[in-house]
Amino acid sequence: MSPEPPPTDIPEVDMDKPNAARMYDFHLGGAHNFAADRMLAGQVEQVAPWVKYVARINRAWLHRVVRFMMDQGVRQFLDLGSGIPTVGNVHEIAQRADPAVRVVYVDYEAVAVHHSYDLLKDNDNAAVVWADVRQPRSVLEHAEVGRLIDFSQPVGLLIVGLLLFIDDEYDPAGLVNTYRAACAEGSYLAISTMSQDEADPETAGQLAGLLGLYEGADERITPRDRATIESWFAGTTLVEPGLVLLDEWRQDDRPSTSPARLLGYGGVGRIGAS
Ligand code: SAM
Repeated sequence: MSPEPPPTDIPEVDMDKPNAARMYDFHLGGAHNFAADRMLAGQVEQVAPWVKYVARINRAWLHRVVRFMMDQGVRQFLDLGSGIPTVGNVHEIAQRADPAVRVVYVDYEAVAVHHSYDLLKDNDNAAVVWADVRQPRSVLEHAEVGRLIDFSQPVGLLIVGLLLFIDDEYDPAGLVNTYRAACAEGSYLAISTMSQDEADPETAGQLAGLLGLYEGADERITPRDRATIESWFAGTTLVEPGLVLLDEWRQDDRPSTSPARLLGYGGVGRIGAS
């Protein structure tokens, strides 16, 4: 089957409304953001000066996770809420090790999808799907997912920096469960998300300021406690070291000294019977 043509039905980008995906790109030092994104992201950096380290720590964690899953033999990745392409995209890390690795990115933000499409249009083994992850069927039954992902074989299911943007009313546990259930035994589920369980009072205060500012963006942020995040790994066996601060997960480099390191948990679970 040949790749799908570029998506044409993506709504116009509202450049006047700050967007979380483009603000994340700004914090990572990317160029795919507009004045309104930069203005709000700048205000966020004023109240929470460590915010760019949240993005960087999360991104570095994603890189370690992809390498770990490759070491376990995973050769296909479904990356939900993949974001605007930036340094060290999943297909770059994975296909450097094995060009036959297949990757599907999923996002619903127009700039992320357009830039991903441009980046991938000559890559037969990687694609981007414009879909809302809160509608799992639109993802799991998408033609590009069908072309590139064989759900009878182990999948690397990446839910990285996404669930903080999924309100409780959309049942994040149920969503994770639906995607997990689609994957064969021996697949791996990676989740990172925001938490304030370990934040010191000063950082917690700054985080409250950040959350308030995000009320002006098109997505709100919901930090979760550790027990809630751990419950999202139902049906998997967490690999060592379990669900930990991102910096503490299979990290060889010196951990960050930024308070940002206290704000995100990550874990990887092997899907199926232990
Ligand atoms: N996964 C990347 C990473 O960790 O570096 C990007 C994370 S970025 C903080 C969150 C991404 O999730 C954004 O690109 C946003 O557009 C996307 N997102 C949020 N809600 C979504 C939804 N309901 N469906 C699809 N994408 C969504």
